[in-house]
Amino acid sequence: MKTIGLLGGMSWESTLSYYKLINQGINRELGGLHSAKICLNSVDFAEIEQLQHQGKWQQTADILTAVAQSVEAAGADCLLICTNTMHKLAPQISAAINIPLIHIADATAQQLIKDGVTRVGLLGTQFTMAEDFYKGRLREQFDIEVLIPDELAQQVVHKIIYTELCQGIICPESRQQYVEIIEKLHQQGAQAVILGCTEIALLVQQEHTSVPLYDTTAIHGQSAVNFALEDHYKATDKCG
Ligand code: GLU
Repeated sequence: MKTIGLLGGMSWESTLSYYKLINQGINRELGGLHSAKICLNSVDFAEIEQLQHQGKWQQTADILTAVAQSVEAAGADCLLICTNTMHKLAPQISAAINIPLIHIADATAQQLIKDGVTRVGLLGTQFTMAEDFYKGRLREQFDIEVLIPDELAQQVVHKIIYTELCQGIICPESRQQYVEIIEKLHQQGAQAVILGCTEIALLVQQEHTSVPLYDTTAIHGQSAVNFALEDHYKATDKCG
């Protein structure tokens, strides 16, 4: 089994989900007392969040690059950046390490394509929804059309992520607001909606709407499990 590297802490609430999902995925396949081999370096999100909102991306890249290198040095065979938003810096981080970066948008796109989804809604931080590093990648590399909420709804989604979800606060009123935004995207033509922030699944799950949801945390975690078990799948002639 290969060792999975996690750049976590953005926020720690979602890193917890990654840790659990990855261990459960490995155990589902190998059984018994098996668990994942993980190297985790978890940052202080208050520092990162401040830099993000001040637009200090180079400084953020410097911090995350050093953390990624430490994960590699600790013995990881791959790296996951456990947040959609910070994939804005994926090119710089990936260039600074010698292990593969499992990109969250690529993992999600592969699942969408498998399911025949070509027009999808996207919820996430305003960085992820409004900028092009995520949508552009889905469009250009996978031919997937991405719909985003209007400006006001983007602000609602963004605010709830930072003031509630990243602090472990789960409010039914916020869930209702998210569900309404998801259903509006569906009415506008989205076949499904990407939960493109790693905390959103803490608030909204498939049971809350009939619109198909793609939880990036679960998809990204499963890609890491598949990577870690590649040799095992080959030996047992199965695919992940
Ligand atoms: N975890 C979130 C994401 O997936 C937001 C926190 C961050 O800004 O990194 O985008």
